[in-house]
Amino acid sequence: MSAVKDINMSKTALVTGSSRGIGREIALTLAKDGYSVVVNYVSSEEAANKVVEEIKSIGAEAIAVKANVSNKDDLQKLIDETQKAFSSIDIVVNNAGITRDNLMIRMSEAEWTEVLNTNFVSIVNFTEMLIPIMKEQGKGKIINLTSTVGVHGNAGQANYAAAKSALISFTKIKARELMPFIQVNAIAPGLVKTDMTARFDLEKLSQTKLGRAANPSDIAQCVLWLANPSGDYVTGQTIEIDGGLFLWSDVEALAN
Ligand code: NAP
Repeated sequence: MSAVKDINMSKTALVTGSSRGIGREIALTLAKDGYSVVVNYVSSEEAANKVVEEIKSIGAEAIAVKANVSNKDDLQKLIDETQKAFSSIDIVVNNAGITRDNLMIRMSEAEWTEVLNTNFVSIVNFTEMLIPIMKEQGKGKIINLTSTVGVHGNAGQANYAAAKSALISFTKIKARELMPFIQVNAIAPGLVKTDMTARFDLEKLSQTKLGRAANPSDIAQCVLWLANPSGDYVTGQTIEIDGGLFLWSDVEALAN
């Protein structure tokens, strides 16, 4: 018996960087809600195929497509493969991202360009390629994964913060330019337990008021909400999901 809901059976979601981490969880969450899913990866073929198998095992449809988001030809291939397999591209989650952390004084040109290209320029290019398709469909939603680092900054991440900050501005601008038929929003996670943050002691770093680091599902549920009709009235927003990481409060001092 299928564990999948029927309501979104005709809807397709393309999730970049969904072989691992947050993207993987987004792909599985959307599939469980009835979306057909395009699972994208750049090097983890086996992991991507496993995500596809898992999606198929719950009765939803999925394909895996190898594409480096920082390469325009690969982005075109990602669109072509999606259109070959499915009839529309309803939801695009720009999730693929990398870090190349270093103190700015030591940051190489390669560390700058790689992060800016993968985390920002790729999304500009992809959005421009998707607009004519979504306009012809008369609808579409784009959800960009930025970061609290793009809002608040972080030492050792000048390249990453610049890319994620630019993505927040780009999200607002495209939302204005593409309304009313295409909604563009961003999600800014704090510290999420994935390979990207594996070298950090997240629980120690998470001085969050909610007392823990995020799980990928904390982010995926927000994507699901934005993707579904529940999020239809939201555009141009950046939703920070960080367990209160940057909320200042001195309640304890007041209590004493
Ligand atoms: P992750 O565990 O390192 O996974 C990264 C994913 O992106 C993988 O599927 C990887 O594919 C894919 N990818 C990397 N470069 C790519 C490229 N050039 N083309 C296509 N796919 C590519 O990362 P994550 O923690 O899940 O992060 C996902 C997103 O959330 C990123 O945009 C990140 O900046 C953002 N974010 C993460 C955190 C956090 O605490 N983890 C916090 C804030 C924001 P392969 O498996 O093939 O390498």
